[in-house]
Amino acid sequence: MPSPDPSHAPRCVVIGAGLSGLAAAELMASEGWQTTIVDAAGRGGGVVETVRHDGWLVERSADNFLTTRPEALDTVRRLGLDAEILPVQASARRALVLGRGRLHAVPAGFRLMVPGRLSSILKSSLLTPAGKLRVMLERFVPTSTAADESLESFAVRRLGREAFERLVQPLVSGIWTADPARLSMAAALPDFLAMEKRSGSLQAGEKTRLLTASGMEGTAGARYGNFATLTSGLDTLPTRWCQALRSSGVHQLHARVTAVQRTDRFRIVLAPAQGPAADTGFESPSASVLEADAVILTTPAPRAAAMIRGISQPLADELAGIDYAGSAVVCLGYPRAAVAHPLDAAGLVIPRQERRKILAVSFSSSKFPRRAPAGSVLMRVFLGGALDPEAATLDDATLIKRATNEVAELLGATGSPTLTRIERWEAAMPQYHLGHLGRVGRIKTLVETIPGCGLAGAGLEGVGIPQVIASGQAAARQALQTVEH
Ligand SMILES: Cc1cc2nc3c(=O)[nH]c(=O)nc-3n(C[C@H](O)[C@H](O)[C@H](O)COP(=O)(O)OP(=O)(O)OC[C@H]3O[C@@H](n4cnc5c(N)ncnc54)[C@H](O)[C@@H]3O)c2cc1C
Repeated sequence: MPSPDPSHAPRCVVIGAGLSGLAAAELMASEGWQTTIVDAAGRGGGVVETVRHDGWLVERSADNFLTTRPEALDTVRRLGLDAEILPVQASARRALVLGRGRLHAVPAGFRLMVPGRLSSILKSSLLTPAGKLRVMLERFVPTSTAADESLESFAVRRLGREAFERLVQPLVSGIWTADPARLSMAAALPDFLAMEKRSGSLQAGEKTRLLTASGMEGTAGARYGNFATLTSGLDTLPTRWCQALRSSGVHQLHARVTAVQRTDRFRIVLAPAQGPAADTGFESPSASVLEADAVILTTPAPRAAAMIRGISQPLADELAGIDYAGSAVVCLGYPRAAVAHPLDAAGLVIPRQERRKILAVSFSSSKFPRRAPAGSVLMRVFLGGALDPEAATLDDATLIKRATNEVAELLGATGSPTLTRIERWEAAMPQYHLGHLGRVGRIKTLVETIPGCGLAGAGLEGVGIPQVIASGQAAARQALQTVEH
């Protein structure tokens, strides 16, 4: 990155130091802009944060990233973290699903909603003979001409209700914590729509994909060989990224942005942030307003809406219309001997029809080594989401009781856990409801009318780590294209 000349370089403020914000700041700085990142938490990474103590390594939110898209992997490599890349352990590259009270393996080759190997569907103990037959008939189901469809409608139409309820719903809920009757296929899972349109069926499309190795894994969902983390924890990525940005002259401020105004330049209004910044390099601002030629907003959409309302009411209304769901993650550590199940998978997903009190369990210490002290195991239990919003609001004791009761019944965990930790994520997961793509289109058009403005983050075009990095880069390019010199 060239060192900007502080006296002449145009100024950019990036709001939010999540991964989308860091990506935007990097691109602006590389173009010679004097760049400042402002973050209310006073640290880089946003929701990505790792907690390390007494031999435990607990990810507060994301615990891995897709490696078949380039953005995250390229960043990790650019920051010199190659030696830290840790793929999901081979022994854990499968998922379990609860069916009629018992645990079953997700049939081999079943990719989120694509029955890749019919032989494994036939052998599976999860579906009834009628349910299996219906999946087999998928290739004869006519294609739809609709531009968009809900996940539930798409999966029931193509695979039948049983496969939807027992497999697709829990697998997708684990990723999106969404209501499948509202989740937009076009916004959240466009590759599967494209597959149907191109090949006539998911089965035929998967055959072609495997023959041509077309790289569709990029948005297809859980295939555990395509995911990796960092040995020392995922937040090593933003920590190292912030250090690199600081070395190249990017200022990092700990403050809460309350408004973005526009006269001949942007005015970014700051309020003191709550809590001191940890030892992160984020400094307290010396003024309550920053002036800039370009501004890039990367916070969750409702926050961005509140900031931008004074510049564009229609843009603020569109952003405020993006729904978010909350969840809670209860992290539980046990002595290995206290859990009867071998935990020989990446985790367990739970269909809604099973009427349990949790959504999924991730077997953290099976996915990656060194997540628990020797002789212990670490699990992360997910509760809440769009279909069970109250669960995320329960008090700590009730959440822990729910999680421990469920892992006792489902996985044979006995005794008290040696580690308990609750991560609450209030309104952290954007919901791409039907019509989301249209809304994103309108948002882009409205942003274009504000020269020098860019908008990024998980609320728009993908929640995964590579996708939010891509969105930060795209927002920076957008600001550069429209800025008035
Ligand atoms: C529980 C959970 C598990 C997940 N698991 C995975 C996974 O395994 N793999 C994966 O790829 N993705 C996963 N994700 C998704 C992924 O981690 C996120 O979508 C992504 O990191 C979001 O990045 P972002 O930059 O859009 O926003 P954020 O990370 O939300 O960052 C936004 C930043 O804006 C700041 N901010 C907010 N308001 C203000 C303000 N007024 N002024 C200044 N700053 C402000 C915040 O402090 C924050 O730092 C998970 C998400 C959650 C919640």
